[in-house]
Amino acid sequence: MSGYITYACKTCSKSFFRNKEASKQKFCSIECRLFGNVNKTGHSQCWEWVGATLNTGYGVMNVNGKIILCHRISYVLANGFLDDKMFVCHSCDNPKCINPAHLFTGTQLDNMRDMARKDRSGRAKLKVSDAAVIRDRLKRGDKLKTLAVEYGVSIDAIRLIKNNKTFVDQAITPSGLKLK
Ligand SMILES: [Zn+2]
Ligand SMILES: [Zn+2]
Repeated sequence: MSGYITYACKTCSKSFFRNKEASKQKFCSIECRLFGNVNKTGHSQCWEWVGATLNTGYGVMNVNGKIILCHRISYVLANGFLDDKMFVCHSCDNPKCINPAHLFTGTQLDNMRDMARKDRSGRAKLKVSDAAVIRDRLKRGDKLKTLAVEYGVSIDAIRLIKNNKTFVDQAITPSGLKLK
């Protein structure tokens, strides 16, 4: 096999053939590449991806020229399948985390609700009172985008508030009394 050399995988140490042209390849498989780039402090802790990330904090990997989210790869490796339409959400709210024990699938709406409810550290970014102000300002003609920028959330998060999909569970009566 001219043009190829054998190389020991950085993660599992098995030998594999490496194309001299693509000689930066250090891992024998996608799985080894994924788990060779995590900071794993404990089995049940977050396994933080240390490679490239999007500005949303999610780890990404280039697989044959396609950018794929690392936590989705981890989910597939652990569970064997993933419906393309489903979102993989983090129970730990750590976008860099790829520990399959911290990942669950949800619909896009679940995912947006989840993101609208919390910021990256897991704290609620908006309060019910903010949502009331946002709804009021939208009625008076403020743009979704303006409010999204101002509150540091996505346009989808603002749209969910507008459509009463989020921040409606603790409804406040007109007199200001909480229903529950
Ligand atoms: Zn390997
Ligand atoms: Zn985690």
